[in-house]
Amino acid sequence: MEHQNREEGLERLKLEFEGISENEEFARVVTAVFMSRLNPTLEEVEDVKIAVSEAVTNAVVHGYGEKGGRILMELKARKAPEKKLILSVEDWGRGIPDVKKAMEPMFTTDTSGERSGMGFSFMEAFMDEVTVESEPQKGTRVLMEKRIGR
Ligand code: ATP
Ligand code: MG
Repeated sequence: MEHQNREEGLERLKLEFEGISENEEFARVVTAVFMSRLNPTLEEVEDVKIAVSEAVTNAVVHGYGEKGGRILMELKARKAPEKKLILSVEDWGRGIPDVKKAMEPMFTTDTSGERSGMGFSFMEAFMDEVTVESEPQKGTRVLMEKRIGR
């Protein structure tokens, strides 16, 4: 874990962990603890935890196919002029050939019938901004922002 506090009003945390399902809860809990410094409501915390969970699950399940691999999560808490949580989840896995299509509600490449294709829709519903950068065989980065305390 690395902690920097250079820019005024911006606190950052970078976290690298193995992309296995055992670490999904870990990512959620760290995010909740980190964002508590912005004095969020319980609902805001729950929203962010769901979004983080979806992004990390995608990296584990789709990016690495449960084989594991490096996941980098970056958290930023901005206190002024407007309280905001900025976070990214990055993997170096399979990548997404068509991001626009992948983000459509109910789109999934899963064939087991276990997944509903709603992960990105949840991220968009619970966060204010969701940006996805991806390249096949290179990896995926999901960047999200949520304003806190409106
Ligand atoms: P659900 O999230 O409802 O369980 P899902 O994961 O298939 O289902 P989304 O989270 O919306 O649905 O993702 C849509 C599709 O985008 C996935 O089926 C997968 O093909 C692709 N995808 C998402 N994240 C990644 C990733 N990190 N690496 C590779 N492919 C991804
Ligand atoms: Mg998903």
